[in-house]
Amino acid sequence: MKCPTCEEHIGWDWVEDECIEPNLAFECPHCDEQLRYKIDEGTYYGAQHQTVEVVDD
Ligand SMILES: [Zn+2]
Repeated sequence: MKCPTCEEHIGWDWVEDECIEPNLAFECPHCDEQLRYKIDEGTYYGAQHQTVEVVDD
C-alpha cells in the first residue's frame, strides 16, 4: 500500500512483521504519520481490496 501523506510504499511484509491489525492506528515507517488500513471483502470470490487512510482523530 502507499502512504497517503508521503506517498512512500509500505510493504505488506512489513505490516505482517509488525503484526499491525486492520482498523488500528500505526505509524508510517517513512514519515511517522498516523495511519490506519482496512480490508474490504470483495463481492467476488477471494477478491479483497485494501485501503489506507490518515487517522485524523
Ligand atoms: Zn508516510
